[in-house]
Amino acid sequence: MFKKSKKDILQAPRGMRDFTGNEYRKYQNFWSIAQKIAENSGFSGIETPIMEHTEIFQKGVGKGTDIVDKEMYNLETIGGDRLTLRPEGTAGIMRSYIEHGMGSLPQPLMFYYSGPFFRHEKPQKGRYRQLYQFGLEIMGSKTPIHDALIIQVGYKIVKKTGKEITVEINSLGSNDERAAYIEKLRLYYKENIENIAKSDLARIETNPLRILDSKEESTKLINKNAPLLTENLGEESQKYFDTVLVYLKEINIPYKIVPSLVRGLDYYEHTVFEYVTFDEKGNKSNALGGGGRYDGLAEKIGHSKAVPSVGLGLGVDRIIEISDNNEFKDNKTIGIYLIGLGEQGNKKALSVINQIDINENLRLYCTLTEANLKKQLSRAEESGANYAIILGEEEIKKGLAILKNLSTREQKEINLKNIKEEISKL
Ligand code: AMP
Repeated sequence: MFKKSKKDILQAPRGMRDFTGNEYRKYQNFWSIAQKIAENSGFSGIETPIMEHTEIFQKGVGKGTDIVDKEMYNLETIGGDRLTLRPEGTAGIMRSYIEHGMGSLPQPLMFYYSGPFFRHEKPQKGRYRQLYQFGLEIMGSKTPIHDALIIQVGYKIVKKTGKEITVEINSLGSNDERAAYIEKLRLYYKENIENIAKSDLARIETNPLRILDSKEESTKLINKNAPLLTENLGEESQKYFDTVLVYLKEINIPYKIVPSLVRGLDYYEHTVFEYVTFDEKGNKSNALGGGGRYDGLAEKIGHSKAVPSVGLGLGVDRIIEISDNNEFKDNKTIGIYLIGLGEQGNKKALSVINQIDINENLRLYCTLTEANLKKQLSRAEESGANYAIILGEEEIKKGLAILKNLSTREQKEINLKNIKEEISKL
């Protein structure tokens, strides 16, 4: 076993991070914006455990996928259960739908969720082992309008980055069409086996679809003439896909059909899509999120009936990293630095904190230390607060406090009795 030094132990596990200060707030602000957009669009929240039985992912996401073969954090409990830290959200939510008999409720059910997910990938920029996703699912429905709704709501959220977003979209056809296409593709790769990159060879048997988005130059050449999925769709599937596109046009969502888009999870069929953006040089970003239809997932994990569904997962880390506006920053909040001087001042500060009820637009900074006025004022300036309220012993005796505007440096006396009202006026 790999032996850890003292230094190793005092570092977060590779690919996992601590969040404090502004970074912490940006994630919180992202959650609340995404949650609002989802709730304003008819979705309600769901939270499932961070672990599921390993089989849920093995059967749902599928053996032969990178996630299941290489990236899962599996553990065995003292009782001998085999559990896995969730690498994605959909399979667990489908397990919950089945367990609670949600199929007997009026359909569809529309959920949003958020939280940490775990994939043992090679850490690099935009790729973490503990990653954060915000997801949407519409379960128990097979109509193209729900595919369009999912794409639309996800688009609204990723647009908050301030970037131009393109939806790349494709159809994998039905499960049978997809299986027939995979066979065709396998045959094609076998015929061209001598020109396929070594690192792609194993996938000819395990998952030939993934060879389509290979980064290897020699494979890319072969891919140019590979049979196209879009040419292998049956009439029904083509009609379904066309209808999704008609809806997207109607709501002005810019999309691009990308025949090589297959996504890395086994449960998708019919519509699949990703949100991408391009830099000034025209280079495509990593996908900010993506999703698709997963009509067969319920049966894959052991349910007796299909539960047609469509969903998406957004990569919160990537969305925050590329955001170039202030949307996820904390710019709508008034910051107040509460300065208590001496024991009396700090005691008063305690009572001020006590009086403030929920005020969503207020962020209070307060350390209740013995530090003198100069020190506390300089901390207040550094903190990013807009105002300081100074509680000095002399003023307290007179029932007063000093309110100082930290940018204009103007200050005035305020009555301690009215402090709540004074704060809410800011
Ligand atoms: P997936 O669940 O694979 O469909 O991924 C959905 C989105 O999550 C992707 O488009 C990425 O934005 C994000 N994502 C996936 N894996 C990672 C990772 N290891 N680190 C950061 N973000 C990720």
